[in-house]
Amino acid sequence: MITPQTIEQIKNRIDIIDVVGEYVKLKKRGANYLGLCPFHNEKTPSFTVSPAKELYKCFGCGKSGNTITFLMEHDKMSYVEALKFLAARYNIEVEETEASPEQKQLQQASDSLYIINNFAQKFFDEKLFQTEEGQNIALTYLKERGFREDIIKKFQIGFNPSQRDELAKALLQNQFNKELLPKTGLVVVRNETELIDNYRGRIIFPIHNNTGKIIGFGARVIGKADKAPKYINTPENEIYVKSKVLYGSYFARLAIDKANECLLVEGYTDVVSLHQAGIENVVASGGTSLTTDQLRIIKKYSNNLTIIYDGDPAGVKAALRGLDMALEEGLNVKLVLIPDNEDPDSYVNKVGAANFQNFVAKNKKDFILFQLEVMLKDAGKDVNKKNEVVNHVADTLSKISKAEDFTKLQEYIKQCSALLKIDEGGLTNLVNKLKRDKIAKDEKRLPFEEANFILQQSQQPEDVLGDNFSLLNQDEAYEKNVLRVLLEYGLRSWDEQKTMAQYIFEELEQFSFDNIDLGNLFNDYRTRFEQGLQPDAKSFLYHPDDAVRNLVMSITIVQHELSQKWDERLEGMNIVNRDVSLQDVKNSVSIFKLQKLKKLIEENERDMEHATYDEFITLHQIHKHLKEIQSEITKELGTVIMK
Ligand SMILES: [Zn+2]
Repeated sequence: MITPQTIEQIKNRIDIIDVVGEYVKLKKRGANYLGLCPFHNEKTPSFTVSPAKELYKCFGCGKSGNTITFLMEHDKMSYVEALKFLAARYNIEVEETEASPEQKQLQQASDSLYIINNFAQKFFDEKLFQTEEGQNIALTYLKERGFREDIIKKFQIGFNPSQRDELAKALLQNQFNKELLPKTGLVVVRNETELIDNYRGRIIFPIHNNTGKIIGFGARVIGKADKAPKYINTPENEIYVKSKVLYGSYFARLAIDKANECLLVEGYTDVVSLHQAGIENVVASGGTSLTTDQLRIIKKYSNNLTIIYDGDPAGVKAALRGLDMALEEGLNVKLVLIPDNEDPDSYVNKVGAANFQNFVAKNKKDFILFQLEVMLKDAGKDVNKKNEVVNHVADTLSKISKAEDFTKLQEYIKQCSALLKIDEGGLTNLVNKLKRDKIAKDEKRLPFEEANFILQQSQQPEDVLGDNFSLLNQDEAYEKNVLRVLLEYGLRSWDEQKTMAQYIFEELEQFSFDNIDLGNLFNDYRTRFEQGLQPDAKSFLYHPDDAVRNLVMSITIVQHELSQKWDERLEGMNIVNRDVSLQDVKNSVSIFKLQKLKKLIEENERDMEHATYDEFITLHQIHKHLKEIQSEITKELGTVIMK
């Protein structure tokens, strides 16, 4: 662990313009700098760097972070590597301390898993290329399937010998922790103490994370699988989380960026074959239906997802389920069905790369229309079933909710109503009704109709409140918001006696945070403040704990965007340097209190339902009291805004 003192020194020396400027040509614009984003292709610059906040944000692709995350993302450094890189750059000597026992254990477990995986990969590589069994059986098989040696090496494909425990023996000989080994899935325990190889006689596909480290393996039988499963995969452990894995993402990320399209196939061999043919923007889900986490990984690189299927109609229908999720994530999903019972692997080998790409481009079908066709075919002439189809399509379309997708939605309604042979206006009405229902449902959860009403009545709600406006709709946002103002204005003075931070502490004395991480951050700030450390957002941006860093970043990014909007608006109104911090802090604290009060009132109401008469009297008094405080704060909030 690098000592806090060293981190502090590095932090004080970091100049984000200097570091990012090495990679991106930056031009000054107002308080910020602007350049062409290094994370996506663009012609007009939307990559903004704020030297004051030590942050960057791309308004094109959404990438954002600080100097450290820039190095981590752009140069694939780890957090510690990035710190050491900066220390070297600024001639700062790095002091390191011992980590806490828990940290050490966790870190050691994941480090060990990486080390074991790395060892195993080298072992598998050697067995494939340098043993008789490997060459005669595995390598021959791979070559028969059309894989070239350079691509086998690129994907680090290997072979686990068929003998009972060759890998297990090698691992033990190299003193790897015997308790930890089964976690990797490479070996299994037999007869209580004996370790034997789990992937005997199988071809091994290492699975890499986004920085190229091996997190697990897929082990495939050679030839046809009769009784044994075709693939065995690594079990979930500290570094392998199935729902977050996309096979090939490490090799595909640049190509996806460039093509602005991600191809999704089912199997590992599909990915490798397409790569070999020069089609590199491809990843595999590993055969399960897509998870939200996987969709988000894809979305980091591109909004265009093309799914390449080889299944029968039933398989296709199963795969279609869950894709509504992709719509909600704002992805454009297209589908391509590979013909004649081929899979992408065999098809690209048969027709060649150019024809394959041509086929994909020509046969790409829109997900929504494709789904509609499948369902219509299914429904046949059954009127009830056809009604179901109409409702289903309307429901899917109602999930396209982003304002910028309006034209897209119009186009869909046109095409779908034509396919369904129904009136366009009717479908529009149905979609709008479903959208309204959804909004109404969300609004039912909306607390403080009263406060909200006042906010809406106010003349310039945004001027006073900024994004506080939307806080009444979100569960944890108001907690985050208090931390935002604390980090942003905490050290400024509230009045002659105290700072904003002290005001916030006093006001929130009686309340606690629901979100544990936010609560911890609040307490952490308070401790530092009371120790006289003058904490601000920056001092947390370089926190050694990932979770804290990310949390503070997510809070300050909002702040960064907000203040940018602010700057523009204030400049437009010719008001510069207007200090809004007092109102911002006051409103944020009031909204926090209102939310907490609402929860208390609700709890109390629930208690009242089951109370005896005596209890009821007491609870009712509490109820009245809480309501009074609530109305006081609401009134106060109103007058602040009305001013
Ligand atoms: Zn970008």
